[in-house]
Amino acid sequence: MNDDLIIRARRVVLEDHVAPASIHIRDGRITSVRSFDQVDNAGELIDVNNESVVMPGLVDTHVHINSPGRTEWEGFETATRAAAAGGVTTLIDMPLNSIPPTTTTRRFEAKLAAAKSNCYVDIGFWGGVVPGNTRELALLKREGVVGFKCFLVPSGVDEFPHVTEQDLREAMPELTRLDALLIVHAELPGPIETAALNKDAADKYSTFLSSRPKKAENDAIALMVRLSREFGTRVHIVHLSSAEAIPMIREAQADGVKITAETCPHYLHFAAEEIPAGATEFKCCPPIREAQNREELWSGLQDGTIGFVVSDHSPCTASMKLRDTGNFLEAWGGIASLQLRLPIVWTEAQKRGYGLSDLVKWLCSGPAKQVGLQKPKGRIAEGFDADIILWNPEERFDVEASNLFHRHKISPYVGENLSGVVRKTFLRGRKIYDGREVEEPPGGMFLLN
Ligand SMILES: [Zn+2]
Repeated sequence: MNDDLIIRARRVVLEDHVAPASIHIRDGRITSVRSFDQVDNAGELIDVNNESVVMPGLVDTHVHINSPGRTEWEGFETATRAAAAGGVTTLIDMPLNSIPPTTTTRRFEAKLAAAKSNCYVDIGFWGGVVPGNTRELALLKREGVVGFKCFLVPSGVDEFPHVTEQDLREAMPELTRLDALLIVHAELPGPIETAALNKDAADKYSTFLSSRPKKAENDAIALMVRLSREFGTRVHIVHLSSAEAIPMIREAQADGVKITAETCPHYLHFAAEEIPAGATEFKCCPPIREAQNREELWSGLQDGTIGFVVSDHSPCTASMKLRDTGNFLEAWGGIASLQLRLPIVWTEAQKRGYGLSDLVKWLCSGPAKQVGLQKPKGRIAEGFDADIILWNPEERFDVEASNLFHRHKISPYVGENLSGVVRKTFLRGRKIYDGREVEEPPGGMFLLN
């Protein structure tokens, strides 16, 4: 049988190394990865220039699309276009900030109806654990959610209430029975409620930072370690910010507790000391912390305690960021970065001596495995989907609002100088981004477990 397409390059990022190779593709799948010169049988041959690297498409398992119901914040069309332009070929939508949230099968159907025919990349969905919905979990799992998210503090939206330990004691045995992954926004209310707060200096980043102390995260993670151990539930800590919790997670993992963690580009790139007064585009929860904390997060990634890096793309309208008053305590928390995760992480990884194979683990295969997509997503290998990007890791660029495909262009990255430009994105063998435009029509598929 002939291949439809062969992509060959001098630098292809494979499992543990970078090598010259030709990638053979038929019907959207990689049929084989061969030597650079084995290129007969091609319907079409793409010879990649020497400046570009060929890598698996990125997988982002932490994206808030906010549709249906809050499409003025983002939406399937705008978010998945931004994904395509950022080299992301698979994303998983969070269960909250949409109205309704994904906490019952009826609500999940509303979500699927909103997403249908509007996605430029492949997409899966998280369900939610909220007080009282334990009986829905098996049904949602059967309908194909990849796992379930809960909050241990108020989520910021009324329709997605947080859970207490008592609620988790009801839900976790059911999650274990279903072998479902529970992902947790790990901050506890207590340390936040008792934090000293200088409301007269609400435009100072330090005011906001001290309102969300590390202790809130550390205590929440200790609770989740304890409950995971007790119930045998697979638990994952989303957007880890407090590096103080890393030793505790490492010890639990060594002890056989089924607990994993992710962190996000903003915690690895920015430092609290450098955030200007009133710059509410930097607000997110848990917060960006000090430079020293950032370096400890990098160490946690290096030793594998933190498994991977996802965007936590959480946009809102520009007015909700209250940039005019710069009030950190009142502004909406959330950072938009879906399109920029590759250059942010690469810019910082390079400085610290990491290579392209580390990127594949952190941005592609690691997140794919989290949601059970370790096959067919996240690697360039025989039998995998031909989700492939061409990008130039040496080229630097200034982030400009006008180049972002997100619905709203407000982001702390605007004005940053980053390394790594995405040239082309292929989804299952079809080019969906050419370096300028996202190609029509949207051809993303639902990934239902
Ligand atoms: Zn989030």
